[in-house]
Amino acid sequence: EINSIKMEFLSRSANEGFARTAMACFAAQLDPTLEELGDIKTAVSEAVTNSIVHAYPDTLGKITVRARLFDDNSMEIVVRDWGCGIEDIVRARAPMFTTGGDDRSGMGFTIMESFMDKLQVRSKPGRGTTVTMRK
Ligand code: ATP
Ligand code: MG
Repeated sequence: EINSIKMEFLSRSANEGFARTAMACFAAQLDPTLEELGDIKTAVSEAVTNSIVHAYPDTLGKITVRARLFDDNSMEIVVRDWGCGIEDIVRARAPMFTTGGDDRSGMGFTIMESFMDKLQVRSKPGRGTTVTMRK
């Protein structure tokens, strides 16, 4: 590991942009291509948006984003919340599955999976969710 950061913020929608931009700045240390940087921003945006809209549907809660850079030029990003959790992770990860109604397409996890090299989702109902991504 050559560098790491941790940020913590409330589940306000304004903080999605903060997390996405801050992570792009941090990832820039690895000299990524514009495409790689775009992929990272999109994946972070999807994960943080999920914590904001799904984990804490009618309260404000804590979200943390950690990132680690490794000397093989890879990176790990961990987005965590302490919200409602996910009952069936396999079902939640399936393309087009959503509990969000008409304004959601159910593509967030599918996008994270395709834009990053590895995606791991851990969750406990009532306890929260941890999304770990590698690129
Ligand atoms: P989209 O991301 O396309 O707007 P979506 O958020 O519903 O739609 P996904 O991001 O793939 O789609 O998430 C699928 C489902 O998993 C969500 O509808 C929600 O039920 C559940 N989910 C995802 N992240 C969380 C989370 N952090 N806490 C609780 N539930 C979650
Ligand atoms: Mg989503």
